[in-house]
Amino acid sequence: RPNSTLKWTLNNEAPKLGKDKTRSLIQEAFGDWARYAPLKFREAEAGEKTDFSISFQTGEHDDGYPFDGSGGTLAHAFFPTDGKVHFDATEDWTDKYVDGAGYNFRLVASHQIGHALGLPHSRDPKSLMFPFYQLIQPQDLLPKDDRAFIRALYATSATNKPTTFRATTVKTTAATKKTTTQTQTLSDDRCARFFDAVFGGSDNWLYTLDYDIVWRNYQGQWDPQGLPITDVFPGAEPHMMAGIVSPVTKKIYLFKGRRVWRFSPPNTLDSGFPKHLFGTGTPFNPVAALYEKKHIWLLKGGLLFKFHEDDIRYEDDKPPKRLNEQFPGVPADVRTAFTYEGKHYFFTEPDRK
Ligand SMILES: [Zn+2]
Ligand SMILES: [Zn+2]
Repeated sequence: RPNSTLKWTLNNEAPKLGKDKTRSLIQEAFGDWARYAPLKFREAEAGEKTDFSISFQTGEHDDGYPFDGSGGTLAHAFFPTDGKVHFDATEDWTDKYVDGAGYNFRLVASHQIGHALGLPHSRDPKSLMFPFYQLIQPQDLLPKDDRAFIRALYATSATNKPTTFRATTVKTTAATKKTTTQTQTLSDDRCARFFDAVFGGSDNWLYTLDYDIVWRNYQGQWDPQGLPITDVFPGAEPHMMAGIVSPVTKKIYLFKGRRVWRFSPPNTLDSGFPKHLFGTGTPFNPVAALYEKKHIWLLKGGLLFKFHEDDIRYEDDKPPKRLNEQFPGVPADVRTAFTYEGKHYFFTEPDRK
């Protein structure tokens, strides 16, 4: 329906924000998409037929996807042409763009409107359509991946791009000494899933392992399709648990069970691998590998195990470090994590209350 005006209606409001604030944030959220596609949106007048029906709900609300109280699922939307967008009324909604001060309503609304417009989740951790809530500053909307997707979906050419909007991107480069941490929670459990492993390196590649398929991203551009893991990493097995590119040796390590695979650029399995890792208390199936303080750390059960690259072993003569000792504020129940462009990303399971 390009070039037509789509109409939305707001049925109730976020108690904490009030009706006027909720309405203006919804307007901004629609604006995020209208800026990059030939789409127009406006609030419906009384009695008009609407394309999007927005409401705040609690618990069971007759669509088969009950909300779960504070935390966990924040909102959900239905793909076209249903147009229903529901927000969990019990969440701590905010209009502020700071971590730890509630969920930014405009960002979650934009994500849900993306779904209502037909967008699936993105595998790009910087995108708005990534299935986990994360703080994005308003001047960074829309991220590149989302722009490309809405343009492709609504068949607009790049020449339609607006001239009045300038996005400033704050980049943390791999060379930056200081690393920042981010904790993220599942924003929507209807279509979200976890990948086995996500990792990237200073070589501008990001690898996403999804059982036996690898999705690669090179300098922001995704492969048109997933590749069999054995094509990308000859000798690897399906369902690898963690991976990392060593910034020092540029070698790629994949972990599964108590074994490690090591690849030399361009992704050739080193002889003698996979190797078994021995030692008392070595973690079975680490959930993630992180690079910090010149070492690889394997994460399992809220503990960090130091992995020595030079002699391929866990450090088992010292007790493992607690995750929140190394990264204060990060909860112990991290489901997966990765280091990408100098930032550590931590993902937790949604709270079930
Ligand atoms: Zn619902
Ligand atoms: Zn979603």
